Amino acid sequence: KVRREGSSSVLAFRPELDETLLRRCTLETELLKAIVRDELQVYYQPLLNLADRTVFGAEALLRWDHPRLGPVSPAEFIPIAEENGYILELGAWVLNRAMKEASSWNRPLDLSVNISAVQISQGNLVATVSEALERARFPAERLDLEVTESLFIDENLDLKFCMEELRALGCSFSLDDFGTGYSSLGYIPKYPFSRIKLDRSFVTPTMASKQDTAVIEAVLNLARGYGLSVIAEGIETPDQAGKLLELGCPLGQGYLFGRPMDAASFSALLKNAA
Ligand code: C2E
Ligand code: MG
Ligand code: MG
Ligand code: MG
Repeated sequence: KVRREGSSSVLAFRPELDETLLRRCTLETELLKAIVRDELQVYYQPLLNLADRTVFGAEALLRWDHPRLGPVSPAEFIPIAEENGYILELGAWVLNRAMKEASSWNRPLDLSVNISAVQISQGNLVATVSEALERARFPAERLDLEVTESLFIDENLDLKFCMEELRALGCSFSLDDFGTGYSSLGYIPKYPFSRIKLDRSFVTPTMASKQDTAVIEAVLNLARGYGLSVIAEGIETPDQAGKLLELGCPLGQGYLFGRPMDAASFSALLKNAA
């Protein structure tokens, strides 16, 4: 994963900029119609206990398949939706759809939903979440909200208050993509997190060298100190899973265990595993 560049970069005129802008405008216009045209889906990726490889939950990941443009990655359209504010509608849609689908799983599993900063700063996330919980009759104790590190650059009392309210409802919070952003760690105990998600950039192909595992060990120590659980993202090989477990990382997700899949496939996976 690439670190975010500073915002002060100067743009020189480049002809390919036209194309980039055109694509952006197209996506922006088309995205506004994606919900009513039924082009969106929620995919689910299993979350596992590494020791016995049992599934304890799923991360909900938004998918957009446009009839003409084909599948568009959330990494491309989420930032656009964050800029134009449409993320409020998308975010509410994901929460409602994911909890509705998760209610029909044959086992009570955790459901993790990604939340954007904008949903907290501009939306009424507490109301959106409680309405969705009620509508789906989904227990708040099983809903985990994933927020990224970049939210915590400055001490943010609104954010803290919002998180505490949701925590009081029963929801939990995971710190997503941990390690990719900001080096200050002081914010962690100030907010009600229960889990850290170790970014997949630390789960390297071999995890053989001291340098490879040093960051992972540091994160595990830090989490232990704060009483937080850790889940590793992007596990693709049995070696990586074994090494993480050996280092003391209890939880994981990645292509090794399952790619993100549609609701029917995820249900089928649970039935086969039972
Ligand atoms: P994320 O929350 O860090 O999600 C994990 C990403 O890693 C997903 O990409 C997933 O498909 C991918 N992944 C999982 N296992 C592996 C693996 O073993 N190897 C590799 N190479 N990749 C793996 P995806 O689905 O493309 O989502 C990208 C990002 O878009 C997410 O990163 C999240 O930040 C954002 N996103 C997705 N859905 C939503 C949503 O509903 N709301 C918001 N606000 N953001 C979302
Ligand atoms: Mg996530
Ligand atoms: Mg992540
Ligand atoms: Mg990540």
